[in-house]
Order: sequence, then structure tokens, then C-alpha cells
Amino acid sequence: MTIDAIARLGELRVSTLDCTACRLAESRTQVVFGDGSLEADVVFVGEAPGQREDEQGIPFVGPSGKLLDRLLSEIGLERSDVYIANVVKCRPPKNRDPRPDEIDACKGYLREQLTLIDPKVVVTLGNFSSKLLLNTETGITRLRGTAYAWWGRYLVPTFHPAAALRGSTQVLDDMRYDFGIIRDAIAGNLGTETDDIQADAEATPVEDPEQLGLFGS
Ligand code: URA
Repeated sequence: MTIDAIARLGELRVSTLDCTACRLAESRTQVVFGDGSLEADVVFVGEAPGQREDEQGIPFVGPSGKLLDRLLSEIGLERSDVYIANVVKCRPPKNRDPRPDEIDACKGYLREQLTLIDPKVVVTLGNFSSKLLLNTETGITRLRGTAYAWWGRYLVPTFHPAAALRGSTQVLDDMRYDFGIIRDAIAGNLGTETDDIQADAEATPVEDPEQLGLFGS
């Protein structure tokens, strides 16, 4: 990452701290901007901070974060190797789903984080980030299990760790499969067959994400 990009990311973080662009500003304790390596090859995108994250100002520090750490370690990564952010930066009251106007108000921050960090691989955790970044109404169960060509990089959708904590061992097995795809994408070991990488009108590689609008809408 260039010095200019590091400085801009710092400015962006500061600008979020007193953000009042949506109603979540009224109930949050802290803004949870994002955390991790600025040189990360992979950026994980969750949904919204929960209670622990709201208290500490750091993403994925609760039970979902512990599972994320475990899955990372199984593919030889530590948290300090990756960057983690959320679709919305403030905790929705009682952990309700983020609303469309809240996502709209916040998505510019995520867009700029991704543009500045410029990872090889973006991993979307769960429905909210997967649908937003792939610009689709298709749910995560159908989207996952493959890598998408996305703005000149890979996007790998997988379940949110909370779904594995609530759900059957099948969800965890599916996440392990997807983390194998993440490992291969980072290593550049994904083939160019359409079986390995899906590219469609909504997820097509392009040269200039800023100019074209990173999320397609
Ligand atoms: N769930 C998320 O989506 N993000 C967090 O930061 C924590 C839990």
C-alpha cells in the first residue's frame, strides 16, 4: 500500500468516527471501522458489529470472530495477515438486520476501504455482504462454493460464522470447503475454467473500480 493510500485510509477512519449519516449513530457505543493488515491479500467483509465489537471498536471479537480465527488458522493464516470490515460500521440495536437505507449510507466507506487496500481476494461472510458486493438477490446458500471474478480480483462468498455456530455441522463443512477456495485464490492456484471461477454481468473483472463504481450500483 502506498503512503498516500495509508494516509487516506487513516483519514477515512477518522471521518467515520463522528458519522451521523444514519440512525445507527444514535445507539452505537463505538464505530467499528475495520482492522487488520493494510498489505492483506484478503479482506473479509461481515455484516455489522455485534455487542462485543460495539464495546471494543474492533470487528469480529465475539464468538463469530473466534470461529473465523479457527478457520483462518486451518488455512495457515492469522488474523494479523488479513483485513476485516463490515457492511455497516455501527451496531444495529439488538443485533437486528441492517436496513437498506443504513447499508446505502455506509457502503461508500467499504467501497473506499476495498479500493485502497486492493486485496487479491474479497471474502463476503453471509447474505448481506455477498448480495451487496455481487449486486444480486441470490442467497448465500446458492452463491457459495465458488470464486467469482470481481473487479479484477476474486470474490469468495461463504456463510457468516454465526450461521455455523447456530447451524448444523454441514454449514461448518461448507465453510471449510470455501476456505480451501480462499487459500487457492490467494496462492493463485485457481484455474481459469468457468467451473473454478464464475464471471457474469454482475461480477465481471474491470480495470478501474473507482471510476465504474465498485458495487455496480
Ligand atoms: N458479525 C459481523 O458481521 N461482524 C462483526 O464484526 C461481528 C459479528
